[in-house]
Amino acid sequence: MSDHLIIIGAGMATGRAIEDLRSAGSDIKITLFNAEPRGNYNRIMLSPVLAGDKTYEEIVTHDDAWYAEHDVTCRFGEKVDAIDREAKTITAANGDVLSYDKLMFGTGSNPFMIPLPGHDLDGVIAYRDLEDTQKMMDLGPDNKCVVIGGGLLGLEAAAGMAARGVDVTVIHIMGHLMERQLDEAAGYLLRKALVDKGITVKCSANSKEILGENGKVRALLLDDGTELPCDLLVMAVGIRPNVKLAQDAGLAVGKGIHVDDQMVTSDPDILAVGECVEHNGAIFGLVAPLYDQAKVAAKTLLGEDATFVQKELSTKLKVTGCDLFSAGDFAEGEGREDIVFRDPARGVYRRLVIENNVIVGAVMYGDTADSNWFFGLIKDKTDIADMRETVIFGPAFQGGAAVDPLSAVAALPRDAEICGCNGICKGEIEDAIAAGSTDLVGIKATTKASASCGTCTGLVEQVLAVTLGDDFVIPAAATVCGCTDMTHEDVRRMIKSQKLTSMNAVWQECGWKTVDGCPTCRPALNFYLLADWPLEYKDDPQSRFINERKHANIQKDGTFSVVPRMWGGITTPDELRAIADAADKYMVPTVKVTGGQRIDLLGVKGEDLPGIWKDLNDAGMVSGYAYSKGLRTVKTCVGTDHCRFGTQDSTGLGIKLEKTLHGAWTPHKLKLGVSGCPRNCAEATCKDIGVICVDSGYQISIGGAAGMDVKETELLVQVPTEDEAILVIKAVSQLYREQAKYLDRIYKWMAKVGLDWIKEQIVDDLDNRAALVDRFELSQTIYRHDPWAEHVKKAETYQPLANLSLEAAE
Ligand SMILES: Cc1cc2nc3c(=O)[nH]c(=O)nc-3n(C[C@H](O)[C@H](O)[C@H](O)COP(=O)(O)OP(=O)(O)OC[C@H]3O[C@@H](n4cnc5c(N)ncnc54)[C@H](O)[C@@H]3O)c2cc1C
Ligand code: SF4
Ligand code: SF4
Repeated sequence: MSDHLIIIGAGMATGRAIEDLRSAGSDIKITLFNAEPRGNYNRIMLSPVLAGDKTYEEIVTHDDAWYAEHDVTCRFGEKVDAIDREAKTITAANGDVLSYDKLMFGTGSNPFMIPLPGHDLDGVIAYRDLEDTQKMMDLGPDNKCVVIGGGLLGLEAAAGMAARGVDVTVIHIMGHLMERQLDEAAGYLLRKALVDKGITVKCSANSKEILGENGKVRALLLDDGTELPCDLLVMAVGIRPNVKLAQDAGLAVGKGIHVDDQMVTSDPDILAVGECVEHNGAIFGLVAPLYDQAKVAAKTLLGEDATFVQKELSTKLKVTGCDLFSAGDFAEGEGREDIVFRDPARGVYRRLVIENNVIVGAVMYGDTADSNWFFGLIKDKTDIADMRETVIFGPAFQGGAAVDPLSAVAALPRDAEICGCNGICKGEIEDAIAAGSTDLVGIKATTKASASCGTCTGLVEQVLAVTLGDDFVIPAAATVCGCTDMTHEDVRRMIKSQKLTSMNAVWQECGWKTVDGCPTCRPALNFYLLADWPLEYKDDPQSRFINERKHANIQKDGTFSVVPRMWGGITTPDELRAIADAADKYMVPTVKVTGGQRIDLLGVKGEDLPGIWKDLNDAGMVSGYAYSKGLRTVKTCVGTDHCRFGTQDSTGLGIKLEKTLHGAWTPHKLKLGVSGCPRNCAEATCKDIGVICVDSGYQISIGGAAGMDVKETELLVQVPTEDEAILVIKAVSQLYREQAKYLDRIYKWMAKVGLDWIKEQIVDDLDNRAALVDRFELSQTIYRHDPWAEHVKKAETYQPLANLSLEAAE
């Protein structure tokens, strides 16, 4: 047995090693140095101290009496500055030189500070020790704090300060919080919970500079120009093993101090434990493996055999009200499957990742009571084949309770609006049910709920079901797809009423059964979200059909058709020359005039798309969106300019309409026609929206079809001026965007809601018409642009989501 052990660092790992040594009866002389002016405390409990749930005294693990009783000489507040391995001595900060027989490193980690301009200002701190914690605790309700880093530490710091009334903003560079431990769905729930605590969370945000005044931090500047004022800035962006002393002493060091399975460094008399070590290429940031290391190091010092083995780790966040657990590997991969359970009403999300009938990863939010059981299954690599159907419900599952799809409705408050048209809240429907209306007809008659546009019918039925229980049977309605039990109408209503502005929000709050949807629901959700939340939601190209991603129509031989826009069917010799040149240059085999009055270049190779777009762009042409669920063409006749029957400038109106509607995404394709007189040469009365010009104005009709179904339009309204015609058409387009089911053309939507209801919204209610136009214009500020030009700029490479059905160009 060696007679003098010097330990550098009184951290969680070395504290445990000393306990293990002494409890094994070792009488080795121990001298314990610590740079911090105190002994061992439970560092991980700094967060509860910050939040005010505990005091520092309560988290001290070894006090003076303990050290005295266990014969440990303490040199706290003293750093070890150097090691002489030849002489087997250390030099303390005050110059004392002490001899050792064995030396143990437990120097922990240094917090990483991003070297932003201003990082050395007063008031810029990390979150590592009691001093940092005290600075955060000194902030009062009038203070602002910015935390850079949406990982475990950053969020605990943010929540702790928010609990003290501090105005906290978290800046996170990645798209969702704790991305290393959580998938997007759980990240979404966590963010929501933190926002509910009053914390501002900014993801995908890049810090540029820390601004100061008189040497003290004043604000954080983001690279988008946003300035976030703050009195304190906490950087919680990661840690680096503290290896400087070991490096200076000539020990083998990589990311951390190299140790073998016995925790011995490259010098046989020097051991290392804790976050400062690197073992088999891994470094450590959680205490569980450090305690194992401490046990092994103690045994090594005692001359006993022991081997450190890395094990699965799990993470929990210590923020009150954010129950979260993650373990194992939850990345998607070949041969891996997910089992997902969501309970929107309780804000619960569970996901298990399974490979070869073994759970390899688990993420849980909201209810983590069973986390230890799941963690055990992961660690033990238990074969779950026999309990596969029920494993997601946890150990207590007895084969009974199924997921309740109505729970979201049950959780709605009484003042939640159910019928938007008639302003009927859930409470009024409940009252009507209590008064004896026990079916949809009764509710419609007594409250008017679902008596107008009908999109809330499913919801009204769910309120009936929740209130009446088994006494009410919901008529079966088609769900969006197999990922959900909800109909399109339900989902749209949830998106609006619950202000769901991301796919993840929809998946969670609507109880999606899959992790990230399928090729059926993703395009629909993408459309609903961008139509309802144009500013908040960003279009997701990976949730689009291939034509919309490629901005060209894929043909049956795999080539593409390219159709430049010809506003109102008008072109010029220059445009025609440019089209001809492009056809020659890219060896386009077929050039065809389409039914929508424009020219289709058929047979363009995928790799030539950016080139041909650029050439057409250079000639002033933009994408004709001939592939989109959006505005296609506005077909016109020549009107008063050339035709002796013409009553109005039909071509001019067509061009104006095409320019104003250009780029708008709609539930299905949208085709318009404008004819200069009732002779109707532009075939306007079989379009989705048609205009027939007459001497007294413009007859606007909607709901035509000339495809699988053939249908004449029905008159919506006649208006006297061109300007009003444009407003009505914008309003009806927006109403269609906001209300229709994805993939319903206008005539199908109209069949469901009724022309009368559409008239009420647009013709009778002028305020509503104006509001619809405003919302349309707001959305168009984002979407009225040319995708070709953008794609040429980005020279994007495309990743098809799925090979979905092909569609004709016009
Ligand atoms: C706020 C917070 C919350 C956390 N929450 C969790 C959690 O929930 N779960 C979890 O598993 N982990 C958590 N951790 C991480 C956990 O605390 C660390 O993994 C653990 O403390 C590391 O132990 P260690 O002994 O390696 O180093 P430390 O505990 O950091 O101790 C190292 C000590 O060495 C001293 N030292 C360094 N150099 C010298 C020198 N030259 N001379 C003398 N002394 C020196 C340092 O001053 C320090 O006191 C958290 C950490 C923080 C900061
Ligand atoms: S629709 Fe009327 S105005 Fe237009 S071209 Fe035909 S006849 Fe002329
Ligand atoms: S879908 Fe194709 S084949 Fe059918 S009418 Fe349209 S272009 Fe012709």
